[in-house]
Formats: sequence, C-alpha cells, structure tokens
Amino acid sequence: MAETVDVIVVGAGIGGLTAAALLQERGFSTIVFEKNRFPGGSCSSFRKGGYTFDAGASVFYGFRDDDAKGTLNLHSRIFRKLGVEIETIADPVQIHYHLPAGFEVPAWFDRDRFLESLSRRFPHERTGIRKFYDELESVYAILNALPAGSLEDVMHLGIVGARHPLKTAALGVKTLFSMGKTARRYISDPELLHFIDLESYSWSVQDAISTPLVNAGICLADRHHGGINYPVGGSGAIPAALVKGFEKFGGSVRFGSEVAKVIVEKGAASGVRLSDGTEVRARAVVSNATAWDTFSKLVDDPRLRIPDERFIKAPSWFQVWLGVDGAIVPPGFHMHHIIVGDWSKYDQLGGTIYFSAPSVLDPSLAPPGKHALHLFVTAETWQWEQFDYRGAEYKAAKEAFARSLIARAESLLPGLREAVELTVTATPQSHVRYLNRRDGSYGPLLKPGQNILLKPQNRTPVKNLYAAGDSTFPGQGVIAVTYSGVSCASYIARQLGKPLDYL
Ligand SMILES: Cc1cc2nc3c(=O)[nH]c(=O)nc-3n(C[C@H](O)[C@H](O)[C@H](O)COP(=O)(O)OP(=O)(O)OC[C@H]3O[C@@H](n4cnc5c(N)ncnc54)[C@H](O)[C@@H]3O)c2cc1C
Repeated sequence: MAETVDVIVVGAGIGGLTAAALLQERGFSTIVFEKNRFPGGSCSSFRKGGYTFDAGASVFYGFRDDDAKGTLNLHSRIFRKLGVEIETIADPVQIHYHLPAGFEVPAWFDRDRFLESLSRRFPHERTGIRKFYDELESVYAILNALPAGSLEDVMHLGIVGARHPLKTAALGVKTLFSMGKTARRYISDPELLHFIDLESYSWSVQDAISTPLVNAGICLADRHHGGINYPVGGSGAIPAALVKGFEKFGGSVRFGSEVAKVIVEKGAASGVRLSDGTEVRARAVVSNATAWDTFSKLVDDPRLRIPDERFIKAPSWFQVWLGVDGAIVPPGFHMHHIIVGDWSKYDQLGGTIYFSAPSVLDPSLAPPGKHALHLFVTAETWQWEQFDYRGAEYKAAKEAFARSLIARAESLLPGLREAVELTVTATPQSHVRYLNRRDGSYGPLLKPGQNILLKPQNRTPVKNLYAAGDSTFPGQGVIAVTYSGVSCASYIARQLGKPLDYL
C-alpha cells in the first residue's frame, strides 16, 4: 500500500514550506519532498571556509513584530502561529544605490531622510518626489489593512469586501496602474526616472512601466514601516524556522527526494512518484516548482505546457561569494548596495551589480577580522552552455568572469581585489542544477501593462494540483512567495473542510 497523506508539497522553497507548515498546523497530514539536502531553495545559506553565505535572497520584509501596525508582517505572524522564534537585526538602509555621475542615495528606513536625500539631488522635483512616494504609501495603507488570504476563495473575498468595502474598491482601481506611469504623472527629470526604474528593477528585474503599482506599494513603502530585517545566522534561518515549526506539528520534510511525476488519474492529482519509483498518495498536491517545470516535467500532458508567449522569462544570475580581509570594509558600510555604471546598460545582462555584505550586520557569518560578501548580476544559461560544468574550462571562465565583477566593484570598495581570500561562484547552470528552475530563471514575469491579477493564483488546470511560489501571485521575492504559500494553504484548507484562521 502506498503511503497516503492529506497534502504533498513538491519542494521546500519558502512558498512550499509556508503552505506545508500552515496546513500541518491546521491538522492536515503533510509531507514535503525536497530534492536537495537543505531547505529554502533560493533563500538558503551555505557554509564554506568558515563563512556562511546567502545562496540568494538577503533583503527581507515582513518581520515587524507589532500586529497593531498592520498585516504585512507575515513572517512574524507565521512564526508566532508555529511557535518558533527567529532573531533578526534591523537594517537602517534597504539598498544603498551607487549610480552614474556621482549620484548616490541610500534608501533609508527613515522615509523622510530618504526623500530628503533624493530631493537634494533633484530640488526641482521635490514636490513630485513626495507625491509619487505618497502614492506608494496609499497602496501600502490599503494592503496593510487587509488580511492575507486566497483571491480564489469566495468566502475570503466576501469577508474582506464586507469588512473593508472602500479599501477593496480602491485596491481594485490601483491594480490598473503601473509604477512607471504613476511616476511620470509627477516626475519628468530623466535621471530621476532612471532611478525610479532601478528602484523597480532591483527586485522585479523589470523597469517601472512594466511593474504593477500594487507590487511597488509593498516593496518601496513597507521598507519604511516594517523595514528590512536580516535573520541572525543568515537567510537559511528562515527556512530552518519553517521546517522546525512544520515538524513540531508532526510534518515531515523528506530531503534528497526528487519528485519525478505528479500522478494524475481521471483528470485529478492523486499523489507523486519519486525518482526512485516510490509512490505517495494525497488528497491535494502543491507544486513549489516553477509553472514551466510543473507543466513540462511533473505533469505529463502536452496540452498543459505553458506557451512561451504566456510570460516573459526573467534572466538567471551569475553569483560570486567572497571571503575578504575585514580591513577592506569601512566602518558604517551598509549591507546592501546596487552599482550601475551606465544607465543605458542597467537592464542588460550583467549591467547592474547587486552587492551585499551581511557580516556587517551579523559578524558571526565570517571568521574574526573577515567579511562575507555576495555579488551578483543577471545572466543566461546560453552564455555558459558551451562548457561542461565539471571541466577546467568552465572553472577558468567562471574565475575570469568573477574577476571582472570584482574589478567593477572596486568603485565601491577600493582595493577589493587584493583583499579576497576565498571565492565561490555560480552560473545560471548552477541554478538549474540546484533548484530545478527552467534556465535557472528568476521566474515568470508579466508583460508590460498586464494587470497584476493576471498572475496565476494557486489553483491549476489539474484538479487537486495547486501551485505555491514565485510563478504565482504576487510574484518573486521571499515575502511574495510567503503570501503565495499562505493563500495556497488557505484555499486548500477550505476545500478540505477546515478553513485556516486569519494570521
Ligand atoms: C540571487 C538571488 C537573489 C535574490 N534576492 C532576494 C532578496 O534579496 N529578497 C527577496 O525577497 N527575494 C530575493 N530573491 C528571490 C527569492 O529568493 C525567490 O523569489 C524565492 O525564494 C522563491 O521561492 P520559491 O518558494 O518560489 O521557490 P524556490 O526558492 O525556487 O524553491 C523551490 C524548491 O523546490 C525544490 N524542487 C523543485 N523541483 C523539485 C522536484 N521535482 N522535487 C523535489 N524538489 C523540487 C527546489 O530544490 C527548491 O528547493 C533572490 C533570488 C535570487 C536567485
């Protein structure tokens, strides 16, 4: 007899783990199958040479610990529900931008300080700057008042609509606008509009015109409310806490277990088959893989393939992690930086450097007197496909590319090259291998002008098969996939007869 549970989750990324933990806590027996031997996917940590590095994400929202201030503090609410604790360090700056022509601005937690820094560079746009960022505040104020739930759940929509009729109507209207078009209503300076594009690109990998106003209302407003907080011990502390909470209620994560197929019988998902042939049955299956991978590898039905024109495929990344002599990092250095040397190239492959120094906030991540750094740029698998990833040529090409990035980052940390004591690199191919993501992509993106509500929700065309993660609403980012996990769990719990309480 095959093992049978209520819910199977394919993948222990943040989206999958969030859904699993909330369902298990509600009393649904849940198993997570994860191909790696660690949880978190793109939000995990790894150790090398005495350093702890963030595999991907390191800018975190959602950790405010004051429920009276709103509902967007999802991590805090989930961890409280699961009875697990996670220690975080408040970051005074979300991102410190280093831009062409000596334009430099930190996005301070303190909103007035940030707006004042920007206004000093663009005194003629002082009023427009205020009005634009106030628009984002108004979106934030709406979202912060609404409880998280599934937009496919009519009961949830009814409750929210009845309790917050004006806010719900206003949010419906806001979904029609893009961040870039809104900015252009108030701002005309081309350099400032470049900056607004970069504010969007920094997390959505798209310019502001292509980015829904609603998403911007979370990322660019909540940084001044809930703020940015970094977990002590590195980004892997977040999935580790989710696993702990999940297991506390009896859930099981099976690491080193790759799901080969979702079993579909009479049009409905009924379980999974692992790559070793083991079958496990369930009433509901959640895929935390991308939509492309779910409907090409996991579900064997050519009619359900995602047509190429359905989404824009975001690029992947080339990453470099460095262990460096601590003397290179000056006192007061911020954790996150973005470097753009040429506005005409910021959105081309490799054009923008993302840079983080997590050990400035949490010194335990590096040996005494050292710092852990992470640099990454957009990249594509086709740039690396001529190499065999086990071969010397691949290694040499990676080292050469890493050296060029380090040289570019000298504009931020002069002398960086000489200070490097340890280098680790990853290409888009590494993302394919470690995360099973098609072309290592950051995920599917909406096309410019598409309404945010066109992002797939958690239901799929296959009955009892659901999706959680960055292929679903609202999109990429750890807090976004956490929302997706919450909405997925909410929908399934109602279908299985025991709805979740609001967080
Ligand atoms: C370089 C980089 C930097 C980033 N920086 C930030 C940041 O600063 N802040 C932020 O909020 N976000 C950031 N992000 C984005 C964020 O990390 C992701 O959007 C989010 O973590 C994705 O979560 P997920 O649950 O959708 O999927 P993933 O993280 O992709 O996890 C999916 C999991 O499923 C597993 N899996 C897939 N297929 C199978 C299968 N068949 N069987 C078993 N297991 C399977 C994978 O191994 C993986 O563990 C960054 C991402 C990257 C790559």
